[in-house]
Amino acid sequence: MIGGGYVGLVSGACFAEFGNDVAVVEADPAKLAALQEGRIPIFEPGLDRLVTENVAAGRLSFGSDIAAAVADAEAVFIAVGTPSRRGDGHADLSYVYAAAEQVARALRGYTVIVTKSTVPVGTGRRIAQIVRDTRPDLEFDVASNPEFLREGSAIGDFMRPDRVVIGTESERAREVMRRLYRPLFLIEAPILFTGLETAELTKYAANSFLAMKITFINEIADLCERVGADVHDVARGIGLDGRIGRKFLHPGPGFGGSCFPKDTLALVRIAQDAGAAARLVETVVAVNDARKAGMAMRVIAACGGNIRGRTIAVLGLTFKPETDDMRDSPSIPIVARLVEDGATVRAFDPEGTEQARPLLPGAVQYCQDAIDAATGADALVVVTEWNEFRNLAPAKLRAAMRGNVVVDLRNVYDPVAMRAEGFVYHSIGRPSTA
Ligand code: NAD
Repeated sequence: MIGGGYVGLVSGACFAEFGNDVAVVEADPAKLAALQEGRIPIFEPGLDRLVTENVAAGRLSFGSDIAAAVADAEAVFIAVGTPSRRGDGHADLSYVYAAAEQVARALRGYTVIVTKSTVPVGTGRRIAQIVRDTRPDLEFDVASNPEFLREGSAIGDFMRPDRVVIGTESERAREVMRRLYRPLFLIEAPILFTGLETAELTKYAANSFLAMKITFINEIADLCERVGADVHDVARGIGLDGRIGRKFLHPGPGFGGSCFPKDTLALVRIAQDAGAAARLVETVVAVNDARKAGMAMRVIAACGGNIRGRTIAVLGLTFKPETDDMRDSPSIPIVARLVEDGATVRAFDPEGTEQARPLLPGAVQYCQDAIDAATGADALVVVTEWNEFRNLAPAKLRAAMRGNVVVDLRNVYDPVAMRAEGFVYHSIGRPSTA
């Protein structure tokens, strides 16, 4: 497994749990040192135990030496990052191609080279070319096996997936992949064998569709606010239709994270390059960017239009709960704007503080818990719906705060209870009189 990040580490540990011998290669010395000392460099529920047990069983190891790791491997997974390339939104494939070349040089016999990273259509064939150029003698196949796990529930998603997609043209490679995923055949998880391009595109299509669903309900939420409707009832009313489905219809401050923003952008670029317009997804990107940029204005408006000298508590910084991942989190533009407009920001996140520090203005005060953040605040903003925020007693919050403005961008509180406690309570897509 090349890359020991969210995907490589989880997939590596899960493949080991399936009974395979897995060597994870990680290039970042700090991450590698942590892994070798038995520490998990990311926060992902259950990962600590899974890694410890499989290391103890001798099935999982960590190192930096690609040659040693891949020499006798039946399959090598490339799970390195594919961020947006600065400037044009194309997926940056430099890590993937560098890894492919390193792997090619080190292989000793027939191996399936699998991309687990999310990569644009055509990357698999390009990798095959790189490997052929590097090692004309080598017997190998390429496969695309995009990963659909969600941070925060990654292990369950990997162990009990809705489906596994494997794109390859070689029967020999299919057989290796079948053996690797055998436990999933036993639980009858749908395994789709497709061509390379199809598998590569399926991942982008899935993420773009989900991003579109979120963006759709966010627009409906804005409309609800204007016409006095309740977005949760609308979401339920449409979601119970089996053709629509109930999931991913929760309104909020706009999608963020390490996947949706970069993958929607990459799909747009892939479509442009292929001469096929992806206007729906283009619009999703634009609408979502505008939404994230505009969220701070809701807070400023709730505070009467001027936040200079005010103290604002921010609950939650990560792009969603149960992860420490801060990549493209909606909290980044919100907090930046609040600080820029002269507010003192007191922030708390259960797991994301360390990753947040380099991405947020230096003036942000990081607090011990939610009540600590709320202490002396004129207004409070909920940015991420961690369970511990849902469970806060409104009376306790009210007692800690100096002011009484709450802007709940995740609708975690009951508007009636909040207003009864004396809060001026704003949420997303719910009538202000509710
Ligand atoms: P990440 O940044 O957490 O992990 C990538 C790791 O690869 C880093 O630790 C980096 O140091 C390491 N690396 C880079 N080049 C290397 C090399 N040559 N040798 C060894 N290690 C190297 O990224 P991630 O979140 O795990 O995402 C990886 C890929 O999976 C991306 O394409 C992403 O789109 C995709 N993906 C991510 C998720 C998710 O929820 N994070 C879900 C599905 C798919």
